[in-house]
Amino acid sequence: MMLLRTCRALCSRAGPPSGDWQPLHFDGSAFHLKSTAELARALLVLRLCAWPPLVTHGLALQAWSQRLLGSRLSGAILRASMYGQFVAGETTEEVRTCVQQLQGLGLRPLVAVPIEEEPDSTPKTGESWYEDNLSAMMRCVDLSRSLVETSGTAGNSLMQLRVTALASTRLCKELTSWTRRSGSSSELSPERLAEAMDSGQNLQVSFLNAEQNWHLQASLSRLHRVAQHAQARHVRLLVDAEYTFINPALSLLVAALAVRWNSPREGGPWVWNTYQAYLQDTHERLTRDAEDAHRTGLTFGVKLVRGAYLEKERMVARLQGTKDPTQPDYEATSRSYSRCLELMLNHVNHRGSMYHLMVASHNEESVHQATKRMWELGIPLDGPVCFGQLLGMCDHVSLALGQAGYAVYKSIPYGSLEEVIPYLIRRAQENRSVLQGARREQSLLSQELQRRLLGQSPRAPY
Ligand SMILES: Cc1cc2nc3c(=O)[nH]c(=O)nc-3n(C[C@H](O)[C@H](O)[C@H](O)COP(=O)(O)OP(=O)(O)OC[C@H]3O[C@@H](n4cnc5c(N)ncnc54)[C@H](O)[C@@H]3O)c2cc1C
Repeated sequence: MMLLRTCRALCSRAGPPSGDWQPLHFDGSAFHLKSTAELARALLVLRLCAWPPLVTHGLALQAWSQRLLGSRLSGAILRASMYGQFVAGETTEEVRTCVQQLQGLGLRPLVAVPIEEEPDSTPKTGESWYEDNLSAMMRCVDLSRSLVETSGTAGNSLMQLRVTALASTRLCKELTSWTRRSGSSSELSPERLAEAMDSGQNLQVSFLNAEQNWHLQASLSRLHRVAQHAQARHVRLLVDAEYTFINPALSLLVAALAVRWNSPREGGPWVWNTYQAYLQDTHERLTRDAEDAHRTGLTFGVKLVRGAYLEKERMVARLQGTKDPTQPDYEATSRSYSRCLELMLNHVNHRGSMYHLMVASHNEESVHQATKRMWELGIPLDGPVCFGQLLGMCDHVSLALGQAGYAVYKSIPYGSLEEVIPYLIRRAQENRSVLQGARREQSLLSQELQRRLLGQSPRAPY
């Protein structure tokens, strides 16, 4: 299988496209690679997750089942269902086994540490929580590297990074309101932050108090250390986008890291930013940032998503009486995604591996658009453009892409049940519309299970 994929990838580099465009079929034929038990679990879990009360009251239900059944039995049920479907495991060995299974199916790991500071949680005091998170991120870098090394494939690994695990949401809010004030560009430019990261010298920012200045310096140091370690271990860091009330600060920090780590001589881009197509200003921002990278001679990495926090963004705008930053409807978000995708594919086409893109979407049309344009532009299947989907979601899309030779990453959270379940429930609440929209996947899973149980012959491969 490995050999077949390598051949396909090498053939795809052979030059301009010849013959007709052959679309991939996301019809579930790739499910033949999965066991009946895996398909049955996926169908059960996706059906449960599409049931709104379970997602809304997930945390309360978990606490209730622990009290009623005891933590052992309720833990076993979760392990056999939601945790087993969406999480790689708790120990390094469990993660490794999960990743080996993915690799056997032509998929790659995008490891994600499930740590973040929820905006409405009590702010963490002291630096120790963030320092512990840094240690977890460093271990994740090592794990990401070792997962690629043991698979025997060369090349770089990718992992997700959440800035709010290393810098407080409160600081990010302060920096965001500062970036929105006019005439503030010289005091906290990406270059100045990059210099402070590199030299470790104390940065004094006029609009922050002494404690905030201290926390900023410590946060810069954490970001610097994780990026330095990632670069040394050949792991690319894909920084998550979060809420609009902190995103400008996250982008500023990513821009500072990019100054230091995304120069072509370092083999970058090592630090990528995430662009959420559901925001009205995203196409404009992406256009500007891509051009800035070209102007400054830096490499540029983008994870393109539709965006996960729609309901919360709209609620905050309503409560604060401010303008809703999101697109008016689903179609507008999809148009925005399509324009951003086109923009980035054209950059990749013109600037080659200086620009990298992850098409992080479960949407079949977006994936079709990306594969078709890659073919038209002659972009190699396993080059600077890759695809990303969540572990346990849309396997019919991931498997079809992987089997055709595209670089496909499954975002895999790992950790103990206690750490990961609250994180999963929050993600399920944020991705409510996606889970409810997974009906096609459910119907394909159900068809494949029926076919197996009735002993019918397999679907013709795509
Ligand atoms: C590898 C990976 C990394 C990710 N990283 C991030 C990240 O850093 N930050 C982040 O925010 N998300 C992230 N996500 C989550 C991602 O945003 C969701 O998976 C995505 O929104 C679902 O979109 P889709 O293209 O898969 O599917 P679709 O089902 O086609 O789209 C659903 C999305 O459309 C949008 N939408 C739905 N209804 C409306 C409406 N009425 N008006 C406007 N827009 C609407 C929403 O964004 C919704 O999530 C990541 C996902 C993956 C796979």
